Amino acid sequence: MTLLIRNAHAILTGLPGAASRHAGPDMRIRDGVIEAMGALSPLADERIIDARDCVVYPAWVNTHHHLFQSLLKGEPQGLNQSLTAWLSATPYRFRAAFDESTFRLAVRVGLIELLRSGCATVADHNYLYWPDMPFDTSDIIFSEGEALGMRIVLCRGGATQSRAIEQDLPLALRPEGFDAYMTDVERLVGRYHDSRPESLRRVVMAPTTLLHSAPGAQLREMAKLARRLGIRLHSHLSETVDYLDAARAKFGMTPVQFCAEHDWLGSDVWFAHLVKLLPEEITLLGATRTGIAHCPQSNGRLGSGIADLLALEKAGVPVSLGVDGAASNEAADMQSEAHAAWLLQRARKGMLAQPRYEGGTFEGGADAATIEDVVRWGSAGGAQILGLSRSGTLQPGMLADIAVYRLDDPRYFGLHDMAIGPVACGGRASLKALLINGRMIVENDSVPGLDLDALRVDAMAAVKTLQQRALA
Ligand SMILES: [Zn+2]
Repeated sequence: MTLLIRNAHAILTGLPGAASRHAGPDMRIRDGVIEAMGALSPLADERIIDARDCVVYPAWVNTHHHLFQSLLKGEPQGLNQSLTAWLSATPYRFRAAFDESTFRLAVRVGLIELLRSGCATVADHNYLYWPDMPFDTSDIIFSEGEALGMRIVLCRGGATQSRAIEQDLPLALRPEGFDAYMTDVERLVGRYHDSRPESLRRVVMAPTTLLHSAPGAQLREMAKLARRLGIRLHSHLSETVDYLDAARAKFGMTPVQFCAEHDWLGSDVWFAHLVKLLPEEITLLGATRTGIAHCPQSNGRLGSGIADLLALEKAGVPVSLGVDGAASNEAADMQSEAHAAWLLQRARKGMLAQPRYEGGTFEGGADAATIEDVVRWGSAGGAQILGLSRSGTLQPGMLADIAVYRLDDPRYFGLHDMAIGPVACGGRASLKALLINGRMIVENDSVPGLDLDALRVDAMAAVKTLQQRALA
């Protein structure tokens, strides 16, 4: 069974340099894999997607999310707080309020929001685990992903020790035992982890916040177990200056040095944020090929800053994009995230301008990131970081994870180069099709069988329920 994407107006591939665009205009998909690209004649009985006036992208790979937060958007107590105060005000205050049905609904809302932005793969950093938990959040994430046909990388978060902000709070905020954590990671790997390239289920070792979630000796054991099991490692790191202060006060070293001391650097490791780094930390991350999940919208919303992707990429750090949780990013979709990454890298460079009479040689920040760079970070970069060897780029032999954007909103009218529209114009372009492993998951901008209006009503009711149950 083959499928032909025909007459695409433009194709971005996720590859670097001259290969970032392909003339197409056609792509043939056979058995879930891109078989050919070029001028192709339709075969008899071949299914055809008419991509005239459409722009084709590799489906996005989102490398950092917290799906449970999808019902915590714009929560007033945390809306104008920086990271630490926001953590107490929103995610921690609402944590115990989730039950099986609200958790499942939050996951579903988040996955559908991502799908409709053209995203195929999500690495969900789930940290809703506590002792004697009455429902299995890991299983819910995998089953909701499976129902939609998405590629799910479960980053098994959690903590084996408490932070000060968690003291005197209910069971749902207490840490797990170290043995219970390790046993559960092994259980999840045995039950769900599929290391084949076309896999829709992966598991990652991901204690929530490396500096705070477990003692150093345990972090070393976690890294050892992950490498024995052949899974990747992920955590939050250096989102704000608090990380530098905490690492110096607690351990007498920088956060990245702390990672090095505990075997938490390498091409199988990636960290969310990396906003506040010292130059020697960037060098060490690059030398070890440790990756970044860049989350510009969340970093902006929380006032944390803007990661220096130029310096990181130059040092050798693999770069990817993540939307982070919706409690700190009300537009938790990959098109918005890519748009923000594009603008903010340019703004960041522009902010370094010094007047020429003070010796400045500033030439402008507009060369900080091209649309092709941002697409590469959001697709190929993510696939590399997650170890998905046949996802993230559009070329023969790769899995058919493909977004076909229609650009039928006035926002996209008048473009001289339609290829850049989905990122440069922002917003959410309607999807002619989203394919994952060659399967049509979104068709003519809707998920077959999904009642969006019912989902909206359920989400409104769930927000009320959560507000009633949240801690004061
Ligand atoms: Zn996060």
